[in-house]
Amino acid sequence: MTPETITVDYLIIGAGATGMAFADALLSESTGTMAVVDRNHAPGGHWTMSYPFVRLHGPSNVYGVHSRAMPSDSVGASLASRNEVLDYYDRIMRDVLVASGRVTYLPMHDVADVRAGRPATARARSLVTGATTQIVVRKRIVDASYVNVTVPAMMRPGYDVEDGAPVVPVNRLVELGGAPERFTVVGAGKTGLDACLWLLNQGVTPDRIRWIAPRDAWLVNRSHEGAESQFRELTRLHEHDSVDGATGALEELGLVLRRDPAVTPGAFRCATVSSTELDQLRQIEDVVRLGRVRRIDSAGAHLEGGTIPTPHGTVYVDCSADGLTQKQPRPVFDEGTITLQPLLPCLVAPSAAVIAKLESLDLDDATRNHLAPPAQNPRTARDLLSFYGTRMERLHRWSSSPALFEWLVGSRLSAALFDLHEMADPDNRATVAALAGHLDDVLKRDDDPA
Ligand SMILES: Cc1cc2nc3c(=O)[nH]c(=O)nc-3n(C[C@H](O)[C@H](O)[C@H](O)COP(=O)(O)OP(=O)(O)OC[C@H]3O[C@@H](n4cnc5c(N)ncnc54)[C@H](O)[C@@H]3O)c2cc1C
Repeated sequence: MTPETITVDYLIIGAGATGMAFADALLSESTGTMAVVDRNHAPGGHWTMSYPFVRLHGPSNVYGVHSRAMPSDSVGASLASRNEVLDYYDRIMRDVLVASGRVTYLPMHDVADVRAGRPATARARSLVTGATTQIVVRKRIVDASYVNVTVPAMMRPGYDVEDGAPVVPVNRLVELGGAPERFTVVGAGKTGLDACLWLLNQGVTPDRIRWIAPRDAWLVNRSHEGAESQFRELTRLHEHDSVDGATGALEELGLVLRRDPAVTPGAFRCATVSSTELDQLRQIEDVVRLGRVRRIDSAGAHLEGGTIPTPHGTVYVDCSADGLTQKQPRPVFDEGTITLQPLLPCLVAPSAAVIAKLESLDLDDATRNHLAPPAQNPRTARDLLSFYGTRMERLHRWSSSPALFEWLVGSRLSAALFDLHEMADPDNRATVAALAGHLDDVLKRDDDPA
């Protein structure tokens, strides 16, 4: 059978938050045609397979796409649920992208045989029928899958589990039934936090929950995300020349929180909580800090730092998948390709929209890449300073490009760059540049490879 052939300006591989934000912004800023191809049955990427009670943890106004608000689109509003996020992306795909007549959407298709060239070509193979569509790409192939998010539903736990050991992935928590006597939550990232909060909100008393938390992490205070004039508050960091000092100042400013006041966090993964949620989490007293789990079997849980027996009637809830992988940065714009990556740590949607805007501008790729340096997602406590430093640096960098700046100021996603409108003032631009430079110096001076 001869494969169907379609010709487009852009092939976008992946219809997750990144691919959707890129496609939407490019649609509104250019006249290009696109094919959006995804293995999943619906747009939204990992949201299609995340645990049912997952919600956005950051503010909705820095998530989604440029052209349309998300449900609860304001700082401090209730957080969009998984169903709301999926419904939002479904509507964007149908009512904005496909309805434009310029976007072909191929769900349940795997992209293979990507060949560079002018034009480039690729094959999209249906995972349902096996039929292939030949895609001829006049301008660029856009990789919206590079960041490679994983959620527990996609993988087995990263430790051994003896056959019959009572370990369930977090997705199955809602199906358990039988009212287990005790729960042990494995993992202290965003998913682990969500699992603990969900159990508490169901009425499980804190003494029935054990929490295996290899490393405590700094948590972003949700009520401060996207707050006005944050750069003025952050100038206080100039008073500190060490990582510990600057981190302490962030805590004093209320920008970041820690679960246990007696424990210095060693990690930072952008997990975001409200003070109410933090109070709830603090009710769980049985927190195990013995490193990572190596194996769970009939003798108990074997961790890097020792073995703990399994209390009778316990169910282990696996929340150990790394949802925020760190990929090797690469140039965003290259000959015939775009590799979508975060330009602001953790903020994939505004980053992808900025990249689309840059693609639409009459610039060469060297200039585009200058305006789009990839940012690493954070991992250690030190990365807290890069998180704020990179935001300050991007404020300065992006406000130096009048066309990009004007667009950002008008975009709903620009709240990610708090204080953007204030960057028209050269003094404020100098302030954020100095702050970014200071935080960079602190990190270099206080070099601690651990
Ligand atoms: C549980 C969780 C909650 C999060 N909550 C927030 C939040 O509240 N706020 C926030 O800012 N960030 C949040 N993040 C972080 C980040 O913003 C999201 O993970 C974001 O949705 C990632 O989107 P993505 O498009 O980069 O990746 P994905 O969601 O993984 O999408 C990639 C898509 O590419 C497709 N694909 C890959 N390869 C191919 C191929 N060869 N052919 C066809 N299709 C392919 C996949 O099927 C997938 O649909 C969260 C992350 C997790 C894990």
